[in-house]
Amino acid sequence: MLNKAAHIPLAPSFLPHSSGTTEELHALDQEFRRFYVHRMLPIARAGIALGLVLAGIVCILDIYLMPANFVEKAMPVRIATTLLPLAALLAAMFVFKENRWLPYMIAATMFVVGASILFVGAIAMQTGAPAVPWGLMFTTFYVYLVLGLTLRQSVAVGWPIFLVYLSMSLGFNAPLQKVAYGALFLGFSNLIGTYGSYLLERNAREIFDSRRELTRLAHSDVLTGLFNRRMFDQHLRQVWMQARRDGMTVAVVVIDIDYFKLYNDCYGHQAGDDCIKRVADALASAVSRPLDMVARYGGEEYVMVLCDPTTHFLESFTRDLCQTVADLDIEHKASEAARSVTVSVGAALTESPGSITPEQLIRQADDALYEAKSQGRNRAILYRTEWGQQTTANLAAMLE
Ligand code: GH3
Ligand code: MG
Ligand code: MG
Repeated sequence: MLNKAAHIPLAPSFLPHSSGTTEELHALDQEFRRFYVHRMLPIARAGIALGLVLAGIVCILDIYLMPANFVEKAMPVRIATTLLPLAALLAAMFVFKENRWLPYMIAATMFVVGASILFVGAIAMQTGAPAVPWGLMFTTFYVYLVLGLTLRQSVAVGWPIFLVYLSMSLGFNAPLQKVAYGALFLGFSNLIGTYGSYLLERNAREIFDSRRELTRLAHSDVLTGLFNRRMFDQHLRQVWMQARRDGMTVAVVVIDIDYFKLYNDCYGHQAGDDCIKRVADALASAVSRPLDMVARYGGEEYVMVLCDPTTHFLESFTRDLCQTVADLDIEHKASEAARSVTVSVGAALTESPGSITPEQLIRQADDALYEAKSQGRNRAILYRTEWGQQTTANLAAMLE
């Protein structure tokens, strides 16, 4: 329902603000993840390309510096579980771009790479080749800081690699002293990585929140929470294009509070604001179809776009709008139209959006509103393109 620029609660998780229903928070989290993947994709691509180059250098060094029996066993492992998965991942990052499964592909690949390093370490122990333990530490930082994973995703890779290291070292009866130092450094790397990843994600969430808030403010009217005129114009253009394509009708409805200047004079500006808000809420609740929209057009004037209404529907709809506002029963002693706050409504419908412009339809709705005002207010007038201004149909509600 496109009636209010809903104030969607800010990001969930570990940031302080976390109000909203579970569905809203879930939808928001999904949106944040898309934003995060989009933001981090170039960094992650560069990170994987760098990882591939470094793994290639390690393989070349192995060939030149390590004993032949080690190379014979370790090289197929490195190719199958590091070089090929990294190359496949890099290709996937270009093919799938911002696919929501991408972070999981990255996480899975990095787990395989971590396990591969441990396995190659085991081969080194078995063949008596000198094992260099820094690969795992480097991989740990790499997982947390350069691959664009969220905190949870990177923790789900980094810490299991640490546990596999611990269990493999103990399982292979590695010297306790070596295991203790290895676990200490790898544990530290994970702690620093976890903190770094937390900071990265928090930063991204803050940027995400500010951008959302700015967009919301740019689209909504501060007093009523309805969409503003800019959004209305934008939405009307979209509906217009769709209606032209699908052969639908389009209607614009302009609603103006009667004798509102007198209301302000009589009850004060603050009461005037409250009145504008209450009428806005009533109008918003009258609009429920997915492509329909109500916006504040300025002052005490509102505007609606209705997609594919029939003339019959528009007649009863606009008449009901007058009734809905009258039913609010907001006292207006100074009004000459009734004893409570009322509205005048001007509507224009076109059956062929291809033959006129959105601006012309708005002007026709304005003309119909003018007609409603001239005829005594508190009524709805429908302007049909085919009839022309002189023959506007009077749908006078004449509510007492
Ligand atoms: P009509 O029946 O012909 O529509 O007369 P009207 O008095 O409603 O219309 P007019 O255009 O003469 O006056 C509109 C008034 O609405 C004047 C302005 O002070 C008031 N107004 C515009 N925006 C706001 C607002 O945000 N808050 C309040 N309280 N008043 C506003
Ligand atoms: Mg008015
Ligand atoms: Mg006005």
